[in-house]
Amino acid sequence: MQTRARATIYLNQLAANWRALAAWSPAGETGAVVKANAYGHGLSRSARALAEAGCGAFFVAHASEGAALRDALDGLDADIHVFHGACEGEAALCRDKRLIPVINSMEQARVWRAEGLDAAGPATLHVDTGMNRLGLRPNEVEAVRAMIGDGVGLVMSHFACADEPNHPLNKVQIERFEALCSAWPKARRSMANSAGVYLGATYDLTRPGVALYGGGPPPPAGLVLQPVMTLDAPVVSVFRAEAGASTGYGATRRFGASHRLATLAFGYADGLPRAASNSGYFSLGGVRCPIVGRVSMDLVTVDVSAVDSPVAPGVMVEYFGAEIGLEAQAAAAKTLGYELLTGIGERVERIWRS
Ligand SMILES: *Cc1c(COP(=O)(O)O)cnc(C)c1O
Repeated sequence: MQTRARATIYLNQLAANWRALAAWSPAGETGAVVKANAYGHGLSRSARALAEAGCGAFFVAHASEGAALRDALDGLDADIHVFHGACEGEAALCRDKRLIPVINSMEQARVWRAEGLDAAGPATLHVDTGMNRLGLRPNEVEAVRAMIGDGVGLVMSHFACADEPNHPLNKVQIERFEALCSAWPKARRSMANSAGVYLGATYDLTRPGVALYGGGPPPPAGLVLQPVMTLDAPVVSVFRAEAGASTGYGATRRFGASHRLATLAFGYADGLPRAASNSGYFSLGGVRCPIVGRVSMDLVTVDVSAVDSPVAPGVMVEYFGAEIGLEAQAAAAKTLGYELLTGIGERVERIWRS
């Protein structure tokens, strides 16, 4: 009997999403962002599936993630860019694993030179064009040019508001980006995360993350992306709450009539946001089962009164996946698919299907 929540990851759908994105922007190369354990989908298996589909450029946040990715690719060749760049102590790892640490600051440009990271190939620069989060300030570009010359292979920047196509900052960022890139006319350019791809700002190399995993803002008409993960949780107890009874911590949900309830082995320690209390829902054979009461650490209770079929311990109930859209479920917990995927806890069993 299944007693742990389970994430089933369909690697064929992941590969199909990458191919669909690559076909959507045929002029440039389509990369893949696999930071944070491939958004919770398992770095090794996900990256191998993507590389086998034809992806040759990966992005991670940390050098340690890049090193794990290099080992996972096991002979499949690909560029691995490290968004956070490298501090002094990570230079040896970058050389050893052939990682490309992104240069986000003057200090990282200095490390790049001092540690001989240029021996492995041209640099990737990140210029901040208006998000004001990470990247070289526009007024540092000249000094970086003086320091590392034109051994720059890729210039990247990142949108703050790509998921709002009409936001005025998008146009401002594109103008600044193109102006800054003119310092390295031979370098390739990369601006687009998933939503940036939908904006059409694809340039030479795109960096989709969440879209690969079937989440994020809705894709434009004609681009079809599949859900990649189904997350379901086992029933551990089924019972009736009589009229007047309440359920869960704080007794926040009281019943006016008798309801059939099921408690699932899935709580906030497993990645079910506490903000889904009394607002999220599950699906059992297509029937919606609302969360009743507060989500607790290891358990959540749902109302299964509308389910016709027998509900017994061990029955698996879907949180998101084939029946419930990731983003719809995230909205019910006032969050985003990104946070649901990357918050899945250690106790959740992961299985991969191809
Ligand atoms: C995470 C990240 C991405 C991927 O973003 P999605 O919205 O998941 O497509 C792209 N670029 C940078 C710099 C990132 O940090």
